[in-house]
Amino acid sequence: MKPERDLLLKSYLKRLRLPTIASNYQKIARESLTGKKDYIDYLSVLMEQEVLNRDANALRHRLSIARFPIIKGLDTFDFSAVEEINQQAVLQLANSDYIERKENIILIGAAGLGKTHLATALGVSACKKGKRVRFYTTAGLINELVESKDNHSFTRLQARLLKFDLVVLDELGYIPFTAGGGELLFQFCSERYERGSLIITTNLEFGGWAEVFGNERMTAALLDRLTHRCHIIQIKGESYRFKESRKRRKK
Ligand code: ADP
Ligand code: MG
Repeated sequence: MKPERDLLLKSYLKRLRLPTIASNYQKIARESLTGKKDYIDYLSVLMEQEVLNRDANALRHRLSIARFPIIKGLDTFDFSAVEEINQQAVLQLANSDYIERKENIILIGAAGLGKTHLATALGVSACKKGKRVRFYTTAGLINELVESKDNHSFTRLQARLLKFDLVVLDELGYIPFTAGGGELLFQFCSERYERGSLIITTNLEFGGWAEVFGNERMTAALLDRLTHRCHIIQIKGESYRFKESRKRRKK
């Protein structure tokens, strides 16, 4: 041990912001002495750990910013439990290339078919690819938009939302919006058009959207933009929750 040298080294590592190296360099140095490692091996092991740790921290940060209701992946989604779904298309979307192309995804299906699960899983995959993601319930986003309009921060909120590579809008159609809310949501979606991706989950076929938006022409314009560059995933089958509870009852 050379306390002065270690103190100096630690101060360098601190200035360079290399905390993982600071906590590991002595241990790895001892291991390197016993193994057949040269200086460059030693350096690359240290660097690798710093990079891995930094990536893990960045992912954790992106996941917390995204505010998923629960973190779920595609690995826990049982495709065989769904009567009808384009599995290939879903797996392909998990590579997040659609975000590069600013394309949208619309997941359509009845309650309990795994729409929120899939939207979350695709969002988590995007975080793993380094994308900035934000998950909202549609009602939650409308509330924020309305509030921002009321306190004159709508433009600022729009700008902040545009910084996300992907915004998930969960549950469009369960709660009808006020006319003002529908219009703000329309503005939000129009602003994103060809500038950022959206994933929308809904229980409604497109024919039913005008009713929740309360405006036929605006809805037509919205659907025109949303579906221009869009992957539509239809899910059909029986509610997963319902099936699970039936299984439990049988037992
Ligand atoms: P939806 O949003 O379509 O109403 P959810 O995604 O909330 O449905 O799914 C309801 C519950 O069932 C969740 O806990 C979800 O993880 C689970 N689930 C639904 N479909 C599947 C599936 N195919 N495989 C595994 N879990 C599923
Ligand atoms: Mg849902």
